[in-house]
Amino acid sequence: MRFDRVYYEPGSLEYPLGRALKEKFAELPWNPVETHNNIPELRSMENAAFAHMKRFLIIGTRKTHKYVENHKISDYLVPYTSSGCTAMCLYCYLVCNYNKCAYLRLFVNREQMLERLIRVSLQGEEPHTFEIGSNSDLVLENTITGNLVWTIPEFVRAGRGRLTFPTKFDMVEPLLPLAHGGRVVFRMSVNPADLIRRVELGTAPLDRRIAALNQMCAAGYPCGILIAPIMYTPDWRVQYGRLLEQLADELSGPVKRQLFMELIFMTYSFIHREINRAAFPAAPELYRSDWMVGRGRGKYAYRPAIRAEMEEFLRAGLARLLPEARIVYVS
Ligand code: SF4
Repeated sequence: MRFDRVYYEPGSLEYPLGRALKEKFAELPWNPVETHNNIPELRSMENAAFAHMKRFLIIGTRKTHKYVENHKISDYLVPYTSSGCTAMCLYCYLVCNYNKCAYLRLFVNREQMLERLIRVSLQGEEPHTFEIGSNSDLVLENTITGNLVWTIPEFVRAGRGRLTFPTKFDMVEPLLPLAHGGRVVFRMSVNPADLIRRVELGTAPLDRRIAALNQMCAAGYPCGILIAPIMYTPDWRVQYGRLLEQLADELSGPVKRQLFMELIFMTYSFIHREINRAAFPAAPELYRSDWMVGRGRGKYAYRPAIRAEMEEFLRAGLARLLPEARIVYVS
């Protein structure tokens, strides 16, 4: 991964990870900033600079640690060691929160975050599942910080319950030998190979994602697949038909036998449209007024009839090609 410049809160260098990153990226220009949340020089850039901005690395400390209840795959969403990402999926949900400042931010106060996570996991009568990857892609982040390699064995040793995170990347080698105790649920996000190439810019291709999932399952991790986000295109039946066939052909037997699936439809927003038009003028248009309806505050979702048709197609295809897969929810 190549970065052009680092913006950092000077206090980050008081933490071991902050100092390690300073050494790792010593050849880059380092610009001090007051807070990672508000960097006026970057906020004032044009939408057209979105891809350029993704080459900046932001380093700070996480100040808010509020866990949000979630009742899909996990019990809580945990703000963890990063937010944003270097990839540029045209629908990225983080753009709704961060607008064009959806670049990768690393938070170096990781000891504080893991300690809290372990403490909360030990509370209450029942063990819980904690989603630690809802703000970024931790497999990608791990290639820079080693944070998953650091977190997984320590949580499993001192905490209770389970961790989970989704990814669109395949750099899982460092995770394979870890002592995960079957308590870390790995979830791979997939889409048709052609849509990944055209829409999920900078992420891993489908065949490599499938290979990574097979590897993680062989290493004993419980594994799931997200078909996410499901995108409506004029040729969606061909696209998603091919995806299901490729999954059926390339997933290993052990993955298929324990597989659970999440089906999530794309949502889009006015902000995505503005940024994508300026930054990626040749990219496919994901919004059409005959496909989508407003869902409040500049957001759009697919029309109910479109969702219903696609859901029926996917359920039927999964029942035929991956009959052991359990669909946990559709949203
Ligand atoms: Fe956003 Fe995930 Fe794509 Fe990164 S990989 S741009 S976090 S959707």
